[in-house]
Amino acid sequence: MITDIFCKIIKGELSSDKVYEDDNFMVIKDIHPQAPVHLLVIPKKHVFGMHDATQELLGQAMIVADKTAQIVGIADKGYRLIMNEGDDGGKLVPHFHIHLLGGKSLGPKIVK
Ligand code: AMP
Repeated sequence: MITDIFCKIIKGELSSDKVYEDDNFMVIKDIHPQAPVHLLVIPKKHVFGMHDATQELLGQAMIVADKTAQIVGIADKGYRLIMNEGDDGGKLVPHFHIHLLGGKSLGPKIVK
């Protein structure tokens, strides 16, 4: 059985700062925020990452991210969604999640 840190948070075995929850997702504050608003959109069902994500999950996660941005009041000014995948992508937690960042101007996106 897979028990990554986000599974433990979803089961209530670890505490978190929750800002949104529905039947399929939890959105929590990142413990090491990189922006004034830094949230993590996490599916309740364990999904490792992009390789086992369904089209439905990906769509729902995007909708939950925008809904949460509206709830916390950053949707109008804008936000950034980031997903890290694999070692080169810098993924640390082996459970699908999308970073939702905002609350200030994040500047130009740099893609090398
Ligand atoms: P990554 O897997 O690199 O996309 O990022 C994982 C993120 O989870 C990091 O930004 C961590 O700061 C965050 N994180 C790790 N443990 C916790 C926790 N217990 N509660 C909230 N955020 C966490």
